[in-house]
Amino acid sequence: MANVFQRSSGRNWRLRQQSLALFEQWRQELEATGFEVTIQRGLWMLANSSNQFEKQQALAEKRKKENIKLEIVDPIQLNNFVNSGRLPELPQGVCGALWSEFDGQLDPKQWMQALLESGENYGLQIIDGLVNQLKQDGGSWQVSWLGGSNDQNNEKYSENRKFDVILLCSGLASTELLKPLAEDISIAITLQPVIGQALELQLPTDINWQGSINWDGINLVPRPGGRLWLGATLEPAQTASEMGATKELQAMQHLKGAAPEWLKQAQVLRKWQGVRAQPLGRTAPILEQLLPGLMILAGHYRNGILLGPASAAWAAANI
Ligand SMILES: Cc1cc2nc3c(=O)[nH]c(=O)nc-3n(C[C@H](O)[C@H](O)[C@H](O)COP(=O)(O)OP(=O)(O)OC[C@H]3O[C@@H](n4cnc5c(N)ncnc54)[C@H](O)[C@@H]3O)c2cc1C
Repeated sequence: MANVFQRSSGRNWRLRQQSLALFEQWRQELEATGFEVTIQRGLWMLANSSNQFEKQQALAEKRKKENIKLEIVDPIQLNNFVNSGRLPELPQGVCGALWSEFDGQLDPKQWMQALLESGENYGLQIIDGLVNQLKQDGGSWQVSWLGGSNDQNNEKYSENRKFDVILLCSGLASTELLKPLAEDISIAITLQPVIGQALELQLPTDINWQGSINWDGINLVPRPGGRLWLGATLEPAQTASEMGATKELQAMQHLKGAAPEWLKQAQVLRKWQGVRAQPLGRTAPILEQLLPGLMILAGHYRNGILLGPASAAWAAANI
């Protein structure tokens, strides 16, 4: 969601636009070096009220002046799309939509795998370990971690190494790692956990369409094989054990009571969840140089996939 973002200026607008461009550039570079990654273009933003539809119309007008294509789809056109099979029956109460041809969706696991393998071809070295200390050591940084076990007792071994530059991208755990350095860092960083649950559904056989649908903040993402990703809940929580068949998950599955018949009939294949890191008292994400050679890239909250490329570009420029 870069072009449908409500604002047209400021850091988040620039990061979204930069990521949109970089995803395409990276896709081409990955493909040229033998990796297959896909971007499914197209996003329907459904309007739930006339007020929301008016806002969409204003946004489309604004984007036109910026040479960014967004199409307004009025209720009659929307109905025609449903009747002709371009869209499935929509949730109750929809009164218009915005179609964005260049926003879209990707499979983060497919991309992450390709980026890691590509990185290894360029010399990226992956060390599997749990970092437990960052310490300034002259002009460099000493990183200590617990590595995988190499004996029968399954005991972890401790290792450390010096680096010129550290990018701290450890999500919620970042604050814990920064605690011993707090006195030297001029900004306070607090991250709170917000659980997100998502579902993969098998759709009835005659239901398929092109482009993701966003309805009242919920994404309906058509996937190969007649499947659908439905996500995601927003559940403030302290521990992962609170995840499960929550009322938020049920509300999402039934689109808060507005689900069309085909969605009610869809079969749940898989459920997954994660914990997003939301910055307290400041806008997501946190991209900061904290001390010489120490940067933090965390607190991306709901947009860490979208903003990944722009965040990486920020770090590369700073290095
Ligand atoms: C259900 C759901 C749906 C979402 N949908 C979207 C979406 O549609 N679009 C979007 O852009 N974003 C989405 N997000 C948000 C996105 O997933 C996050 O913003 C993103 O994953 C943040 O990435 P990150 O690398 O900063 O942190 P994380 O993904 O939290 O990764 C942090 C990593 O650091 C590692 N780590 C932690 N501590 C240590 C340590 N001490 N030593 C070594 N490693 C450590 C962890 O193992 C982990 O691998 C969604 C999130 C959820 C849960």
